[in-house]
Amino acid sequence: MSNSSFFISELRSHFPILNQTVNDFPLVYLDNAATTQKPLAVVDAISHYYLNDNANVHRASHQLSNRATTSFEAVRTAVQQFINAKSSKEIIWTKGTTEGINLLANVLASQLQRGDQVIISAMEHHANIVPWQMLVKSHGIVLKVIPLSADCCLDLEAYQALLNEKTKLVSITHISNALGVINPVKEIIKLAHQVDAQVIIDGAQAVAHLTVDVQDLDCDYYVFSAHKLFAPTGVGVLYGKQDLLEKLPPWQGGGEMIKSVSFKETTYNELPFKFEAGTPNIAGVIGLGAALDFIKGYDHERLKAHEQSLLHFTEKALSAIPEVTLFCAGVKKSGAISFTIKGESAADIAMLLDAQGIAVRSGSHCAMPLMSELNCNGTVRVSFAIYNTLEEAQRFIEALKKLLQMLQ
Ligand code: PLP
Repeated sequence: MSNSSFFISELRSHFPILNQTVNDFPLVYLDNAATTQKPLAVVDAISHYYLNDNANVHRASHQLSNRATTSFEAVRTAVQQFINAKSSKEIIWTKGTTEGINLLANVLASQLQRGDQVIISAMEHHANIVPWQMLVKSHGIVLKVIPLSADCCLDLEAYQALLNEKTKLVSITHISNALGVINPVKEIIKLAHQVDAQVIIDGAQAVAHLTVDVQDLDCDYYVFSAHKLFAPTGVGVLYGKQDLLEKLPPWQGGGEMIKSVSFKETTYNELPFKFEAGTPNIAGVIGLGAALDFIKGYDHERLKAHEQSLLHFTEKALSAIPEVTLFCAGVKKSGAISFTIKGESAADIAMLLDAQGIAVRSGSHCAMPLMSELNCNGTVRVSFAIYNTLEEAQRFIEALKKLLQMLQ
């Protein structure tokens, strides 16, 4: 066994779910952009919390609550370090990326006036489209969209032409969930700041594949979901620059987000608690901490190189199949590849792959406007994670060729 396959098989052994058959074939899980599998350490951390420390956080002075609070807050610091935020006060817990963007749209609305412009892109997930469309209706903001260039990237010239003194916000995905394309967010942020617009980066697809440094990016806000990073569902992170978060009103009202309540006047808690009304997903946050510890145990550059080799192999092999139309071939990508098969629906291809134990995603990938731009109803998306192997990528290609022969 080569050094590199030993490295991956050791890593993979932490994910027992991958060790199963589906339709009598060994499972090949290539739907990681939808959600990733969880290592044993995450499952163990959650069960340890429920078996030993279960109590509400921040609210009591008893032992269990103290233990739960200490573990819970330690993860906030771990996330701060993971994305290189300046302070743990800048890390707000949410349910996920969707809630993070909705939270921002709701509270930033207080700073927007009728006619102010928000810019998104043609590559956005519905979670980064619909909350802004709601503000078009409720606050009269104007939503502008950066189109795709001929080479399947964001058209940066068109972006520059959209920016003006009316632009108050730019909200862009770091990596397209449907195409895997990595956007030049640092440049996008720099250009937005030149007109004093704030920038939100949707990092849902990026955190598991890239090294994210929010200070280096200089983004104003960064959101992601824990479940795409080997951690549980129902937990997400909203990063915001402290001075900006301080100026924003709270979103939801309730326990935890207040300093004092009376029928005359209520005062709000300080950061980060101002944005965290109600009991949080304590077990989920603790699971995220275990996922971050797990990832830290591996050489990040080596993991990225491994994922890139899977992507390159698969893209090359797909482009050699005559029936395949690849989207954004040759463009800098991470995590995912999208394609269609001439004359066949993406859903049928995904179903026939599943019959051979291969899990991929088909459809619009919650990016219907992007599908219209690409002139298709949906694509087949293959998405990788650190535990996938070259053998799995090969099995996927063989299974695809086999089903194409069958369909002839
Ligand atoms: N943004 C992007 C780019 C995504 O890929 C996703 C999920 O696939 C989301 C937002 C929404 O994430 P969640 O459903 O975890 O809130």
